[in-house]
Amino acid sequence: MPQTIADAIAQVRARIGSACREAGRPAGAVMLLAVSKTQPAAAVAAAADAGQRAFGENYVQEMVDKAHALAGRGLEWHFIGPLQSNKTRPVAETADWVHSVERLKIAGRLSAQRPAGRPPLNVLVQVNVSGEASKSGCAPDTALELARAVARLPGLRLRGLMCIPEPSDDAAVLAARFGTLTRLQAALQAEGYAVDTLSMGMSADLEAAVAAGSTMVRVGTAVFGARTYPQTEAPQEGSTP
Ligand SMILES: *Cc1c(COP(=O)(O)O)cnc(C)c1O
Repeated sequence: MPQTIADAIAQVRARIGSACREAGRPAGAVMLLAVSKTQPAAAVAAAADAGQRAFGENYVQEMVDKAHALAGRGLEWHFIGPLQSNKTRPVAETADWVHSVERLKIAGRLSAQRPAGRPPLNVLVQVNVSGEASKSGCAPDTALELARAVARLPGLRLRGLMCIPEPSDDAAVLAARFGTLTRLQAALQAEGYAVDTLSMGMSADLEAAVAAGSTMVRVGTAVFGARTYPQTEAPQEGSTP
């Protein structure tokens, strides 16, 4: 285990760098999103001191609290968890990105609730690439239709797609799951959409994701260490702890 958060970030950046080299992709093609869910604001501050700017959160109130505690440090907040329609307003007001758009109703609320003074909210359509094994994300065969509708909403900027495949030790299975997202991105680009982001890859599978074309890996455990959930805030069903 690395000694400090700064060491851990350096190690994850090195993993991303060698994955890019292996895949023949330029260094810097893949951004690191540090997933700070359940971690205290002090841990986020330590990561920020080590040069990390973008942080991912799964729970609305937790993101809002940390964004306020660390305001003025130039951090970027990405909401990556399941989003219910009664919780969209604080997300629209606080987040810079939302990775987990899986229904048009949620997208419409985020668009309408985005404060007028802020740039459009960057959004990704979450796709369920693992079939019945997973509950989060829209079905691959409805993703293009949802993405087109999201792209028309004035408060949002469609940036691409996100997935959380079921864990697998089989490299071919992982490659196929990530490949689904890569193909959908290519289809949107062929229609003229400027979708530059594929959010895929976590601590355990970031190499496979980078090989398949990921542009943003969401890494929690490898940056901050193992998570322990407080008794009162168990992960919701369908979320990835
Ligand atoms: C928790 C979480 C991650 C980070 O997972 P690790 O395995 O800790 O890297 C990434 N994406 C989502 C959507 C998550 O919920």
